[in-house]
This record gives sequence, structure tokens and C-alpha cells, in this order.
Amino acid sequence: MRVLVLNAGSSSLKFNLFEMSDETSLLEGLAERIGVDGRITWSHDGESGVEETPLPDHTAALHATMALLDARAGHGKIHAVGHRVVHGGPKYGESALITDEVLADIDAYALYAPLHNPANALGIRVAKAALPDVPHIAVFDTAFHHTIPEYARTYGIPYELSRKYGIRRYGFHGSSHAYVAARTAILVARPLRSLKIVTCHIGNGTSVCAVRYGHSLDTSMGMTPLQGVIMGTRCGTLDPSIVDLLIDKEHLDYQAITELLNKKSGLLGISGVSSDFREIEAAADAGNARAALARDILTYDVRKFIGSYVSVMDGIDALTFTAGIGTNSARLRAEVCRHLTYLGVKIDERANEFGSDERLISTEDSRVAVAVVPTHEELMIARETVR
Ligand code: ADP
Repeated sequence: MRVLVLNAGSSSLKFNLFEMSDETSLLEGLAERIGVDGRITWSHDGESGVEETPLPDHTAALHATMALLDARAGHGKIHAVGHRVVHGGPKYGESALITDEVLADIDAYALYAPLHNPANALGIRVAKAALPDVPHIAVFDTAFHHTIPEYARTYGIPYELSRKYGIRRYGFHGSSHAYVAARTAILVARPLRSLKIVTCHIGNGTSVCAVRYGHSLDTSMGMTPLQGVIMGTRCGTLDPSIVDLLIDKEHLDYQAITELLNKKSGLLGISGVSSDFREIEAAADAGNARAALARDILTYDVRKFIGSYVSVMDGIDALTFTAGIGTNSARLRAEVCRHLTYLGVKIDERANEFGSDERLISTEDSRVAVAVVPTHEELMIARETVR
């Protein structure tokens, strides 16, 4: 069975075609600069390529993608399409076959994910038009977090308003947290349902999750992906009064404040250097004080969430790092774990420093297992589509 996984952004379309009999990727890539000029990059088995091709809109991007799949992944019917959808609102605790009603809900949940859901919905419409005879499945980033109890998801505003507008913590990166938690259970050779794990997805977007016995108990992102740990360009948790002050003093309108908090804050805003953690580390090493501050805030925020989840789960069995920074920055992991000796965390420095694959980086006598697991959200979406 061939499953095409799509992740549509406002000017990009990520794709990955899977053969699900053995869960291999046949071709993956990215159509980007849609509406600007257009470029498709692809890779498979160590081979890769770039094609400059006009992509005036998402329809053109999907047609170009399908022609590329035909040429490079062999002719073969696509049996189903799995779509990454950022926000599933209060209704979707799991993936859904996309009907008109589901699509209307995805449109409506743009209320909570204005930067993501409209692009996701557009990708679905375009793909349904191009592949009308196969099932299309929405896999929601929020679904895994539906198990968060009411006391952990309710904000301190009047309850009626929360109910009226669906204002609550939803959480994101669900496919990633679910995947790495399941892999961690395999690495420690214990059933997932017996484990308390803190999963740290640290990339451009960052979220930390308390996974208790296979279910999300709490997570650092909120109603939108803006809350929690500072990120590449997002501010993370703020005192809401800061927004009032900035609107007032800087004369910002709604659009400008949204742009400032989503695109100009976080590592980029603090350092003034970059949103890219590699550049932050390099600048900090070269003596740039604001880059060092940005790096230290990220590390501190991650530690703070780990500490709170250790507390709410009455201790943990495992701690897992994933995504671009979590998987690649041995230094960040070492710095976070250095402060967890009180929990009995012991890191094997060689295992932490060397290797790019999934592995345990804790010593055998460490009381808490520490793992690095490259995430695989697209495979999770393909699996959900088959299910
Ligand atoms: P996204 O959330 O867009 O999927 P990623 O998970 O790819 O992002 O993470 C991107 C981040 O990972 C960037 O900040 C990048 O600098 C960081 N990163 C990638 N490789 C390394 C590395 N070797 N060391 C430190 N940070 C890295």
C-alpha cells in the first residue's frame, strides 16, 4: 500500500511517499517558494536533487510533486493521502477521514492556529481535487494531547469564556511525542504503559511533554504553538500584560503584534543574530553575550519544564530528546542532564557526544534512562492513515 504524506505550509508543500508493506520511504522532498518562483528538492537513499520550476500556486506544486513521484518513485497507484493538520480543536482526539464536515472544522480551527490551519486546509483541497478517488486522512498535531486532564488544560480566565470559545491548552507535536515515547519504550525494553517519560522536542518549534503510561498528561505548548519554551522565532510563555504594553507604547495593531511574537521573538529576538541554534552556539562561543543569553534561556526553559513534569508524574523512568536541536546538540543535552543528578541521571559522555542514530545516552546504572530518538512524524502520519 502506497501512502502519500503531505504537510502544506503557506508557501511550501512537504511530501513523503511511503510503501507501507515495509514502511520504507520511496521519495521525500519539499516544494517551496510557492507563489514566489518555485523550487522542488527531493531525496532518496542518499541521492538528492533540486529542480527550479515555476510554482504559481499550491495546485501547481502538487502537480509538479506528483510528476516527480511518477518519474522517480516508479509508477504505482497512491492508495491514500495522509495530511498533517496542526489544529484539531476540541473535537478531534484522533485522526479522521476527511469529509466536508471535517474540512469545515479544520477551516474553523484557524481561530486557534491562524498561521497553520488555512494552509493545511488548502493542501487538502488541492490534493482531493488531484486524487479524488482515494481516502484522505487528517492527522492532527493536537490529537495525542486529548488525554490532558481538565486541571492541566484550563487557563485562569472566566470558565464560561473558556467554554464559549474552546480556550484551553491543546498542545502540539503530538505525532512526534507519541513516536519518540514509543521508541523509548523499545530502547529500555519495557512496555510503554508502564513508563513515565518526559519527551523534549527541541527544534525550530519546541515542546516538552509529560507522557504517563503512554498518554499525554501535560505539555508546554498551549492553545496555540506560541506558549511554553522559547523557540527559534516564537516568544514562548509571556505575561499577557506585556502584549498590552507593547500595543500601547509601540502603537502595534493585531497583525503587527502577532508577527512580533511569532516571527521576531525567541532565539532570534533575544540574540539579534539568528533563529538557527547552530548560529546561536557559534556566536555564543565567539563571545556574543546576547547569543549566549538566548542559548542559556532555551536550556533553562527546557530544564524548568522537565522539573515540573518530574513533579507532576511523581518521578520519571526516562527522558528523551528529539528534533533538530534535541537530536544534534550534545552540549544542550549535557547541560540539561548535568542538573538532573538528584534524580539519579548519569550520562555516558561518549554515547552523548558521538552518534546520530537512536540510542540510549545514559549509563547502565543511571536511575533514569536518557534517550536520543530522531523523530519521524511523517511515518506516524502514514501509519495513522493506514490505521
Ligand atoms: P523544525 O521544527 O522546523 O522541524 P528542526 O527540528 O529541523 O526544526 O530543528 C531545527 C533546529 O535544529 C535549528 O535551530 C538548527 O540550528 C538546529 N540544529 C540542526 N542541526 C544542529 C546541530 N548539529 N547542532 C545544533 N543544532 C542543530
